[in-house]
Amino acid sequence: MKIAILSRRSSLYSTRRLVEAGRERGHEVRVIDTLRCYMNITSHRPEIHYKGENLTGFDAVIPRIGSSITFYGTALMRQFEMMGVFPVNESVAIARSRDKLRSLQLLSREGIGLPVTGFAHSPDDVQDLITMVGGAPLVIKLLEGTQGIGVVLAETRKTAESIIEAFMGLRANIMVQEYIKEAGGADIRCLVVAGKVVASMKRQAKEGEFRSNLHRGGNATLVRITPEERATAVRAAKAIGLNVAGVDILRSNHGPVVMEVNSSPGLEGIEAATHKDVAGQIFSFIEKNAAPNRTRTKGR
Ligand code: ADP
Ligand code: GLU
Repeated sequence: MKIAILSRRSSLYSTRRLVEAGRERGHEVRVIDTLRCYMNITSHRPEIHYKGENLTGFDAVIPRIGSSITFYGTALMRQFEMMGVFPVNESVAIARSRDKLRSLQLLSREGIGLPVTGFAHSPDDVQDLITMVGGAPLVIKLLEGTQGIGVVLAETRKTAESIIEAFMGLRANIMVQEYIKEAGGADIRCLVVAGKVVASMKRQAKEGEFRSNLHRGGNATLVRITPEERATAVRAAKAIGLNVAGVDILRSNHGPVVMEVNSSPGLEGIEAATHKDVAGQIFSFIEKNAAPNRTRTKGR
């Protein structure tokens, strides 16, 4: 098959691994720089051009779209979908995953376990917002944050108030969340491909830190997950509509709670920790499912 990988750089680990796994399986794999694609929007023949060339004949496209280029990247995915090219993750699902409030609302609608979460717009409602989510300690998150930046633990109600007011003063969108202390600075990343958890790792925050992000100095190890955690991860990916997803779960004393569902999960940490061929699994999914006009939403 002829398969495009949308990625800013072919030197990124995940991109390199996908290229390698695809070629090993005999596919024609091409890395396309998302931001160098341009499109015509006409009622009959949608096209994508790339550095002067008309892109045609692709059977599938693997989006690796960073959160900073969600807007352009999802528009490009919609164009591929309109052309009938099979997307590993659909534009609509990627857009859902990038909106943290929308994602949590979709998950809650499916009855999936979540940390108690609140959001508000006006500083006038901060007091009541804090009470509503059960008071301090609280985790405050910038909606635009990634890699743990913009995630703050407020130990007392007073600190929580000041931090929330400061963020609101800067016109930043935030949410507040119950602090899952019993998680002990660890979370579980489940890599879901086509409705199955194909790899899972535990990330443990470094000493004195509650955020387990690898970018914040956390370390990753192989973990055995429970059937309940497995089911939660699979249901979360399905609720957002992602075929490939990285689902982040906290072990709370009221069961597994989902923090986030990522649509371009990194492969390096998880493949290193688990020795699983996640990239290969993504190609198995494509081989079984890619056919012209198989997109569910066509970007709608
Ligand atoms: P990002 O998307 O920036 O990675 P997260 O929401 O995943 O932000 O938070 C970063 C880390 O902080 C998580 O991996 C987890 O270890 C910790 N964390 C986040 N929310 C909570 C919470 N409600 N209770 C306990 N720990 C949390
Ligand atoms: N690559 C990031 C991760 O695996 C997230 C990408 C996304 O927002 O979908 O955590």
